[in-house]
Amino acid sequence: MSDSRALAIEYLKQQRLLGGDAVILPTSSPTPDLRPGSENPTAIPAALTPGASPGKTPTASDLPPAGLSFDPSSADLFAADPIQRAASLQDVATLVAACRKCKLCEARTNTVPGEGPATARLVVIGEGPGRTEDETGRPFVGRAGELLTKILEAIKLPRDQVFICNVVKCRPPENRLPQYDEIAACLPYLYRQIELVKPKVILAMGGTAAQSLLNTKQSLGALRNHVHRFRGTPVVVTYHPAALLRNPNWKRPTWDDVRIAARLLDN
Ligand code: URA
Ligand code: SF4
Repeated sequence: MSDSRALAIEYLKQQRLLGGDAVILPTSSPTPDLRPGSENPTAIPAALTPGASPGKTPTASDLPPAGLSFDPSSADLFAADPIQRAASLQDVATLVAACRKCKLCEARTNTVPGEGPATARLVVIGEGPGRTEDETGRPFVGRAGELLTKILEAIKLPRDQVFICNVVKCRPPENRLPQYDEIAACLPYLYRQIELVKPKVILAMGGTAAQSLLNTKQSLGALRNHVHRFRGTPVVVTYHPAALLRNPNWKRPTWDDVRIAARLLDN
């Protein structure tokens, strides 16, 4: 490889780390894609449908490299903040139900704090409630939620064994992206939920979840395929199920990501 090419690659890598979009340079000898089924990248992986047997389980050496670490300070025993003092997931949900810390409280029907057992080994984080979630007060119950349930079944995790929640607990009007101030207002609830559940692994679905949890502007493409850490807990980043409904080509990479999470859970 010529020096200028190596330099250019180094530069692009740095830009990516600084939050730029991934730029794919053709390699001089393209690596063949040997994954099973890769000859038909548009096929929906059988493993993302219920009842199918997952493919080969990756070994430790298949784990992707370490990524970012984010360590916001944890609740201390003498904290005055009621969120930090919440002693259970139910306590957090009660605080969320009364919360008016950001303007998303104005149009909500129900708050959607999240659901699942306090003993869950996996925490799944989405962006924010959609229409069905706002109507029912439960996370991931619309079409995206059905797909999430199937994804979890594919790694042999019944949905009711997982703690499922969102970055913001109230529905953004018309499903727009949550804004920075709304995310900042709501994150303490998520932090406390994670602190109470103490999961073995966190799965961040979509750019909003990944960027909010890891405190970065890096693109989803740059964040995927690394094992990040939130207060030491491994964080795997993948596409949002709603994005998969729009673009089935992302199901295969999602399956790869979810298997990384499964592998970390088995460790
Ligand atoms: N999309 C999300 O991000 N969260 C939900 O709860 C539902 C859809
Ligand atoms: Fe409170 Fe979060 Fe709802 Fe905003 S989105 S009102 S911070 S619970």
